[in-house]
Amino acid sequence: MMLPWLENVHQQLMVSFASGRFHHAQLFNGLEGVGKQLLVKQLADALLCVQAESLIACGQCKSCLLNQADTHPDKRSIRVDGQSIGVDEIREISEFMQHSAAQNGNKVVVLQQCHKMTTAAANALLKTLEEPSAGRYLLLTTEHVSQLPATVLSRCARSDVKVTDTAVAKQWLANLNINDYSWLSLFVKQPLLVEKWQADEQLGTIDLLYKFATEIKDSHNFSALVDIFSKDHALIGIFVLFLTEQLKQQLIAGMDFFVYQKAQQALTEFIHNSSKVLGLNLSLAISRLAFTLRECNK
Ligand SMILES: [Zn+2]
Repeated sequence: MMLPWLENVHQQLMVSFASGRFHHAQLFNGLEGVGKQLLVKQLADALLCVQAESLIACGQCKSCLLNQADTHPDKRSIRVDGQSIGVDEIREISEFMQHSAAQNGNKVVVLQQCHKMTTAAANALLKTLEEPSAGRYLLLTTEHVSQLPATVLSRCARSDVKVTDTAVAKQWLANLNINDYSWLSLFVKQPLLVEKWQADEQLGTIDLLYKFATEIKDSHNFSALVDIFSKDHALIGIFVLFLTEQLKQQLIAGMDFFVYQKAQQALTEFIHNSSKVLGLNLSLAISRLAFTLRECNK
């Protein structure tokens, strides 16, 4: 199943594939939750399928079955949960690319969050990018294309993956019965992130964060917030996004620009500090942030 907002990108890839201009290194840039992973998976399946028609996997051949079981010997997926992708991972890729393929002759490497490559890793990758072998494909994804070195960028074919028509994404979410949250418009371009929240039963928590963000100036008890953040650190970013959005609205409504900057600065500091602290200190950081925001609204 192709996500409706990915059809454009997929169409372009099919055209370049059919005309023999398909680049061996494809870079996909886009927000978290837009569907890069799914797109790259469908692409890898198609490249490895022994009877694929115009970049669509048949779903039935031996290659496709191996992919469905996630055991295809000609596919390698690198996804780093830590801070960086090191030179060892990249060397492993080049070595993998050099050996002959087991199935239809193609080999595919998926490198997710490639902006996490260290400088040494990026340099090591250059060799693979510069000397492509027939039937070897590298599929890279990133949420931060600006963090990639120009040397890597210039050697890839880049596709920007995004929701261009928000009505389409809204409808897709509505089909999942996700429609009546006041914050939904902020994430409509990251539909799979919202879908994941639903699957993880986190929609209520996100809603609570939104409520906290809109009422932070009047709140004094932040223990519920600390509880939420302690369980899932990534939610701090969501909370700050809600606060940032509010500030923007206040600026539009006439907030003094210097006051706005001061509040924005407090948010930046909060994000910076909260990545290091937990528990009691986190509670303190939230109180301090709330205090500053309160001062800014006087
Ligand atoms: Zn197949």
